[in-house]
Amino acid sequence: MSLMKHALLLATAALASLAHAQSASPDFTRCIEGLRSDARAARVQDETFTRFTQGLQPDMSVIDKLNFQPEFRMAIWDYLSALVDDERVAEGQAQLQQHAQTLARVQQRYGVDPATVVAVWGVESNFGQNFGKHPLVQALGTLSCFGRRQAYFRGEFFATLRILQAGHIAPERLVGSWAGAFGHTQFMPSTFERLAVDFDGDGKRDLMDNTADALASTANFLDKAGWQSGQPWGFEVQLPAGFSTAGEGRRSKRPMSEWIARGLRRVDGSPLPAQIGNAGLMTPSGPQGPAFLVLRNFDALFSYNAAESYGLAIAHLADRLRGGGPFTTPWPTDDPGLSRAERRELQGLLVLRGHDIGEIDGALGERSRAAIRIEQQRLGQEATGRGGQKVLRALRGA
Ligand code: CA
Repeated sequence: MSLMKHALLLATAALASLAHAQSASPDFTRCIEGLRSDARAARVQDETFTRFTQGLQPDMSVIDKLNFQPEFRMAIWDYLSALVDDERVAEGQAQLQQHAQTLARVQQRYGVDPATVVAVWGVESNFGQNFGKHPLVQALGTLSCFGRRQAYFRGEFFATLRILQAGHIAPERLVGSWAGAFGHTQFMPSTFERLAVDFDGDGKRDLMDNTADALASTANFLDKAGWQSGQPWGFEVQLPAGFSTAGEGRRSKRPMSEWIARGLRRVDGSPLPAQIGNAGLMTPSGPQGPAFLVLRNFDALFSYNAAESYGLAIAHLADRLRGGGPFTTPWPTDDPGLSRAERRELQGLLVLRGHDIGEIDGALGERSRAAIRIEQQRLGQEATGRGGQKVLRALRGA
């Protein structure tokens, strides 16, 4: 895109959002004021409500995020290659050392091992480096008044006001994701109220600025989700030739003895432990890709974010933090995904070719994907806009 056209588009977008803010404001103020009595019924004092909602402006970008439909479903190997890469393993191991004493006390209290707790921390907020940028009262206030699921978000909005009312977190510190997840552990406000703990005993449950509270809250979450102390999450397994995975899944659990009898083994060839409870067979990329037998603890990880790919990211990162290697069975693709270091390298190569992709941040956003598409076309590759090994190798060599 020419610079001129780009500037024009930016100007148009700025005007549009200005118009949006101006027109939305009276409606928004009326809507928020209309929530006051419901808030009161939800144990938010009038004083609190006034203090945190006075002059509040909507943030319509969260409604865009709410309505966003991804252009394609991300393949699991792309999802995992950025979440569980060498960088995150190295950082996680450093965090394990730095917080060894706290993590040992957390394990004693909640029965969840340090690697699992740190893996959740790494996936949720990159060990406290990525909390999200949306002021929570503004984001949840907006979601309470516009768009889908207003009733749900109102509950979270009131919970946010109660958290501020109780003084757990400084108001100016309370920022998070567009949907209201915040802090080291990315808890929703209602999750905070149910499960956050004050582990250092200063009277506040502070998931923004207190690592001990955050790590303990994560462990408490998993404990309440049914974590079984000393049990693994599961294993990567080898399926016997011709094995049918039809009808199998995380939820159709069978005794381990049955899996053993059907010929499944661990990928290193060793036998599966027979006395370890029931397990479900997960093949997230079909029978040709990696296969996993998952136990009860995998379900606890799953409940943190209700996605099997998410659970697998935590489980795998925890294994890697304990010194384990990458999965043994390759993903069924001839174009594997990129680590964050490789994504940054790819972005650098795109910049060298004159593309304006914004910040080199290792996240392949819209502008990076548009540039990748152009380069793929030029290289005679299929113009998908996806950053994988093929386009990276081709640009390295060019
Ligand atoms: Ca505390």
